[in-house]
Amino acid sequence: MISMNKRKIISEITEYTDLEEMAQEDRTLIHKAMNAASTAYAPYSKFRVGAAVLLENNEIISGNNQENAVFPVGLCAERVAVFYAHAKYPDVPIKSIAVSAIHDNNFTDNPVGLCGSCRQVLLESENRFHNDVKIIMFGRNKIIQLSSVKDLLPLHFDLLK
Ligand SMILES: [Zn+2]
Repeated sequence: MISMNKRKIISEITEYTDLEEMAQEDRTLIHKAMNAASTAYAPYSKFRVGAAVLLENNEIISGNNQENAVFPVGLCAERVAVFYAHAKYPDVPIKSIAVSAIHDNNFTDNPVGLCGSCRQVLLESENRFHNDVKIIMFGRNKIIQLSSVKDLLPLHFDLLK
């Protein structure tokens, strides 16, 4: 008897081609992420990333990548922002995060994807507060939005289940 099953995992994303199509709150967050990218410390990759986190208390915390001569020691923009947000407001869930990146002195044409480690950190935040985090990846030609990090991290690790 064959009991193997093949299944598809579907993630829903929303694409925008124009910032004007987006809610004001999301546009504001993207602009904060863009501002943060401009002051990133990325002398090695020259890929400056900015992230901005909107908290449920309406505070916005932004961060950018902080590189190091010992490469693995540096940290992504998303984690700089998320960790600082949770350090400053330990009881406040994250509502959304926007990410943008500058390469060759221009914002990237394509949306910036989040690395696996940052996805895992955002998942921890969702689970900690039982609150989905909206993710907005900015690119000049396209902006991608997801309603939960679980859409970016199917079959994720969960110690507690
Ligand atoms: Zn990352």
